Amino acid sequence: MKKLVLFDLDGTLVNAGGAGRTALCKAMKELYGKTPQFEHSLISGRTDLDNFSIVYELLKKKKPTAAELKKIKNKYLDILPQEVHAVVRAKKYDVIPGAQKLLDMLVKNKEIILGLGTGNLQEGARIKLAPSKLGKYFTVGGYGEDGHTREDMLLAAVKRAEKKVKTKFTPDQVYVVGDTHRDICAAKNCGFHSAVLTNGFGDAQKIQRAAAELEMKDLKDLSTLCVWLGIKEDPKGVKRGNYIMPASAIEHVFFSRTGIDEDRLKMLRIKKYSDLESGTIM
Ligand SMILES: [Mg+2]
Repeated sequence: MKKLVLFDLDGTLVNAGGAGRTALCKAMKELYGKTPQFEHSLISGRTDLDNFSIVYELLKKKKPTAAELKKIKNKYLDILPQEVHAVVRAKKYDVIPGAQKLLDMLVKNKEIILGLGTGNLQEGARIKLAPSKLGKYFTVGGYGEDGHTREDMLLAAVKRAEKKVKTKFTPDQVYVVGDTHRDICAAKNCGFHSAVLTNGFGDAQKIQRAAAELEMKDLKDLSTLCVWLGIKEDPKGVKRGNYIMPASAIEHVFFSRTGIDEDRLKMLRIKKYSDLESGTIM
C-alpha cells in the first residue's frame, strides 16, 4: 500500500532564521510605507496567502483585494532570496536534525511518496529550501497559493500526488509532519495522520491540546518515525491500526483503560480541535 508523507517546511525541515517574516515586513514597508508589528505566532503555521491578508489588514484595517494580494506576493518573492542569503551568511539557517537522514531513507522506500505540505508559496518554498538541498526529495506538494487554509493546501498536495503516481490515496494513507498545532489540526480535519515536532515554531500548549499521533523534538528518531509510518513493526508488538501513539499521558490512560477504538478517538480529537480554535479548553 502506497503512503504519502507530506512535510511542512519552516520548523519541520529547515529553520530559515525568520527570512520569510523579514521579507514580508520589508515588502509591506516598500508597498505601504509602514512596517507591520506582530508576534511571530500570528503567522507561523498559516499559508502565505493568509499571512499576506492578515498583515495587510493590520496595516490598512480592511481586507485586501486579489490585486493587492498579488502585489504583496510579487514583492515578497522579490525580497525573499536576499533575506535567505543574509540568514545563511549570518549562520542562522539550520536543517532540522535528522531531516536529511530520514528523507534519504524514505526516498528509497517504494511504498513512500514524499511531498511538501507547506503554507509557503511554491517559489518561496524553493527559495527557502535551496541552501539545504532538501528540495530534490520532493516531487509533489501543496503550497501557499493553493488556498487560505492548510486543509486546502494539503488536499491540493494529495491531488497532485494522485495524478503523479496514478494511485488514489485514502485519508489513512496520508501522513502529515509539521511543527505547529495548525499542521495537526489541518491533518485531522482531512482525516490524515499527524506528527509534530516540538522544537519548531509551534506553541507548546496548543500543540499538546491539538494532540498529534506522534510528538518528537526533531526528526532524529528514525525508528519511531518508521513505526508511526507503519513501515516498521512496533517493538512493543502492538499492531498499527488499533493503536495510536498517545500524545499525552491523559490520552494514553484514557485509551488504554477504556479500549476506545480509533474512530472514537478521532471524534474526541476533532472535538478537541473545534474547541481549540474557538479558544475554549475542554
Ligand atoms: Mg512550520
